[in-house]
Amino acid sequence: MATRIDLHAHTTASDGTCTPPELVRAAVEAKLDVLAITDHDTTAGWAAATAALPAGLTLVRGAELSCRWYGGQPSIPLHLLGYLFDPDEPELAAELARVRQARTVRGERTVALLRADGIDVSWPDIQARAAGGTVGRPHIAQALIRAGLVRTTTEAFAPRWLGERYRLPKDDIDVFHAVRLIRAAGGVAVFAHPRASRRGRIVPDSLIAELAVAGLAGLEADHQDHSPAERVHVRALAAELGLLVTGSSDFHGTHKTVALGAHTTAPEAYQRIVAAAGAATPVVSG
Ligand code: AMP
Ligand code: FE
Ligand code: FE
Ligand code: ZN
Repeated sequence: MATRIDLHAHTTASDGTCTPPELVRAAVEAKLDVLAITDHDTTAGWAAATAALPAGLTLVRGAELSCRWYGGQPSIPLHLLGYLFDPDEPELAAELARVRQARTVRGERTVALLRADGIDVSWPDIQARAAGGTVGRPHIAQALIRAGLVRTTTEAFAPRWLGERYRLPKDDIDVFHAVRLIRAAGGVAVFAHPRASRRGRIVPDSLIAELAVAGLAGLEADHQDHSPAERVHVRALAAELGLLVTGSSDFHGTHKTVALGAHTTAPEAYQRIVAAAGAATPVVSG
């Protein structure tokens, strides 16, 4: 049977709805052989996922870093997946802590904007429900659903809500700095959903070429937010730049409609990631 590899999934450590043990169990249900845990700006789910790892599943420990390209005018946010880095590397750990704090500031301000317009959402309630995980816009989306203003997360991300009207920037990590930090911590950097234009502005290919020179290892091509044409484009760009290509679900539990394992990564690309990592290796149970 083919090896099934999904290298992008979220838990309650950020804006997913499965706990880390639930995620690894769901991975077995989804017939995955390899799963990466990649919560936004945190490694807080790693220990619980590792402890609960079922037999036969290999876990790649990672995170999705909130980055920004400051070369554009205005600056453009983007996500980098970091795999197999040392979570105790001080500079990287400090930067993750800083961006988590920036998320709190942005979330609180977003709620203040909503409340100023008479919308009944509560920051203490949103924060309490995030239960210590990194707070993201999906948590605010849930508050809008509870308030009866929208029915789905997708609706909450429409321009009149979190997509534009109530979208505030957060103080993200400079993307070149993020690539350097991931690499210095022994990790491997992959650009998550680089052409997801439906989420907002995307960066030019010339930036991706510069990131490749700076140490970026790969591009996520097969992703729910990429059209077939965008996937073809990403693959061609990766081939041109010598980057590896991944495909992943970006599973968020019930915060998104995509199923775990809906998109997968070829074993060759996965092997390149493992080979490029410094000291850390994927973990298997037992
Ligand atoms: P944040 O990192 O807090 O800015 O929120 C970004 C997160 O919101 C992403 O990781 C997704 O989980 C989610 N998201 C972004 N755009 C959409 C969308 N159009 N529909 C549903 N979820 C989205
Ligand atoms: Fe998310
Ligand atoms: Fe992302
Ligand atoms: Zn993600």
